[in-house]
Amino acid sequence: LQERIIHLESRIPKTYPDVKFLNYMNRKRVLITGGAGFVGSHLVDKLMLEGHEVIVVDNFFTGRKSNVEHWIGHENFELIHHDIVNPIFIEVDEIYHLASPASPPHYMHNPVKTIKTNTLGTINILGLARRLKAKVLIASTSEVYGDPDIHPQPETYWGHVNPIGPRACYDEGKRVSETLTYAYAKQENMHVRVARIFNTYGPRMHMNDGRVVSNFILQALKDEVITVYGTGDQTRSFQYVSDLVEGLVALMRSNYSQPVNLGNPVEHTINEFATIIKNLVGGNNKIIHVNGVEDDPQRRRPDITRAKVHLNWEPKVILDVGLQKTVEYFRRELKRFRFNPRD
Ligand code: NAD
Ligand code: UDP
Repeated sequence: LQERIIHLESRIPKTYPDVKFLNYMNRKRVLITGGAGFVGSHLVDKLMLEGHEVIVVDNFFTGRKSNVEHWIGHENFELIHHDIVNPIFIEVDEIYHLASPASPPHYMHNPVKTIKTNTLGTINILGLARRLKAKVLIASTSEVYGDPDIHPQPETYWGHVNPIGPRACYDEGKRVSETLTYAYAKQENMHVRVARIFNTYGPRMHMNDGRVVSNFILQALKDEVITVYGTGDQTRSFQYVSDLVEGLVALMRSNYSQPVNLGNPVEHTINEFATIIKNLVGGNNKIIHVNGVEDDPQRRRPDITRAKVHLNWEPKVILDVGLQKTVEYFRRELKRFRFNPRD
């Protein structure tokens, strides 16, 4: 044991990214549920660099320690392995509640668990916020609009969701999550924020999350055919992850308590998107059409007037730039995976 201790002590100390010094009055203790996931880990980075104390709670269903490993051991950072379907007792000033699978294959993998996470999990987090009198931001989704018959989608639109379809566990789960949030806010006089997040992409997306961005980039990089589901005429609007993180923080710090769309209004058909990625990666991939998926929303584009007016926020990163960074990330991941196939 003594030898092991000496060995550990002699190791080069870990260096961390430079964090700002914040005095006690300005430093917040922030809980991020789902903070080891794609979006959550970028939010961790922003708040840590600003000098706040960050506590991540995650059950690692789709998140990974490697997303936040650069902070492990830092005095301002704590990582707790916990499933939010069970209550948690900690002391914080602010809560960003992001824990939930987000990609269709992940949330359809165990639909009952997805519903539990978004209902029981949200109740636990709202209960925690009530006890602490903490401000809480709930990560909702454009999926609350379902397959929309109003385009683009403003927050006032109530949505068009199939309550018993394959996506319902997520769509309805998030709708109940919003309902719970406003019920608590009204009944318990709480400070709540609701972000309706539209399709987001960037580094640290899960390689096998089955979403269109990761699928198309990986297919292009691996010289495989690019698979468009259905006709490819369905549309999506893609925002880069740093824009979303800026929006989440702006919303938390605003005085605005109604739901706010956070997304990039530049809209593409999935056919166009396949060609954009193919050209960016520079391969000769064939683009093929395979069976469409059930209840696939046909059009999606955020109306971001509210975010502009109340948060002074709008996305800054254009698709080409964001995709370039994402392609580089996937290239590195593929290399890493070749060396560590069990990663
Ligand atoms: P992600 O899957 O990368 O991250 C979700 C995180 O939550 C993971 O770390 C996962 O392990 C954790 N988690 C899941 N269930 C949990 C549970 N029961 N207890 C504790 N932790 C749990 O997904 P993401 O893309 O980072 O999404 C983050 C949030 O944003 C989600 O709430 C999602 O619904 C929402 N959102 C994301 C997008 C997008 O395009 N990325 C779009 C709309 C909404
Ligand atoms: N899609 C596709 N090929 C894929 C993965 C997805 O054509 O390999 C389509 C999917 O049918 C949908 C769009 O791309 O119309 C976005 O799908 P994603 O799963 O990324 O997110 P969604 O917005 O549906 O939650």
